Amino acid sequence: DLHKYNILKKMVEFIPPKYMNLLRLLGIYGSELNMPVYVVGGFVRDLLLSRKNFDIDIVVEGDGLKYAKYAARNLRTTFVEHSEFHTGSLFFKDGFRIDIATARTEYYEKPADLPKVELSTIKKDLYRRDFSINAMAIKLNSEEFGVLIDFFGCKHDLDRGIIKILYNLSFIEDPTRILRAIRFEKRFNFKIENRTLELLKDAVNNGYIEKVTGMRLREEFEKILNERNITESIDEMGKFGILDHLFLYSQYKKSKLETFEKVLKFYQWIKKNVPKYSYKVKLFHLFLYSYLVYEEEQAALYSFERYGLPKKFLNNLEKLKEAILQLNKLNTYSSYSDFYKIVENFDNELLIVISGFIKEEIKDKYKSYLLKINDFTLEIDGKDIMSLGIKGKLVGVILNEIKMKKLDGKIQNEREYLMNFVRGFNESI
Ligand code: ATP
Repeated sequence: DLHKYNILKKMVEFIPPKYMNLLRLLGIYGSELNMPVYVVGGFVRDLLLSRKNFDIDIVVEGDGLKYAKYAARNLRTTFVEHSEFHTGSLFFKDGFRIDIATARTEYYEKPADLPKVELSTIKKDLYRRDFSINAMAIKLNSEEFGVLIDFFGCKHDLDRGIIKILYNLSFIEDPTRILRAIRFEKRFNFKIENRTLELLKDAVNNGYIEKVTGMRLREEFEKILNERNITESIDEMGKFGILDHLFLYSQYKKSKLETFEKVLKFYQWIKKNVPKYSYKVKLFHLFLYSYLVYEEEQAALYSFERYGLPKKFLNNLEKLKEAILQLNKLNTYSSYSDFYKIVENFDNELLIVISGFIKEEIKDKYKSYLLKINDFTLEIDGKDIMSLGIKGKLVGVILNEIKMKKLDGKIQNEREYLMNFVRGFNESI
């Protein structure tokens, strides 16, 4: 059932000459060493979809490391070996890289474990992949350069827009594929094939997500957060029960998604208008704050431990809950200092997440508060206050007082205000 299609014409039309020359050379090296060489996976899929993707993954039948070293020498690139997987990478001076692997099959001793690897043929190498759309190869050796290799009806699925696993145990062996199915479905606007969908749901309901390390799940989840259709993916993950298994003890609700959408929108605004506050912000954290704030402590604790969240995460959830209560007492007439008092010691992520929970009527005021505080400075500092004989905690209190007054436009001259303030203070004691 091997199908071969000549797609050289498509390649010439679509792939920039720079990469075409490289692919031809990679094929020539294979022929010189008597090894079949293929470009595989996402590159092939995206070429057939006419989508730009020049991440080149090479698979070699034979000794891939010998091939990679040979190619590195001829192309004058650096070669980095990952010997345990019979793979390596070529690094070009401009940062471009090519991954090279020896054709392999993977087998799983236990479900959801990392696979054991065995050297093999291109057919088996393609069969171990996640979905048929990702399981095609293009041969690069000179004689057959540009021949599409399709063992499993992959091109047919790609043409019809279908996400299909290649064997029934696929989701059980690697449950991260559950998330990958959603990601590709939403990215390409494809459909998950019926039987694949049944098996996906079975794997979810039978607790296979829980068998994967938090790190691998987080990685795949973050890839979803980096796509354009985040909302649709999350809603589907909610409906299929995936989120309930990723974040145990919590429950998916449409309202949580709506909150997160507001946060995302606000985050876009931040990046455009006050980029300073996007420093070190992680979408994964924004999501979890929005998602877990009103859940029982157990839910927060579970995700905290499973996904290696920052130390301050649990405490931040408490701060968030309290701040939401306070902020929603404000109105359009509230002053900047009212906001300042509530969010003063918030980190960037909390400053953004807040936006998902505040009333629409104060959102504009909150935005202008952030703009205001962004380039806000005082002329005086603690030393100025201490030089007037004030000591200890009081210094900070006075400084803060002046800061709030200035924020609200109630002070013209800080120094004068400080002098008067201290005079009044001394007279009162
Ligand atoms: P993207 O366009 O998002 O980079 P990609 O298909 O290139 O998509 P990668 O995660 O870079 O995705 O993986 C490269 C290839 O490796 C895939 O096309 C697929 O064939 C294979 N692959 C990746 N992850 C898995 C997995 N969990 N199980 C099986 N095959 C996988």
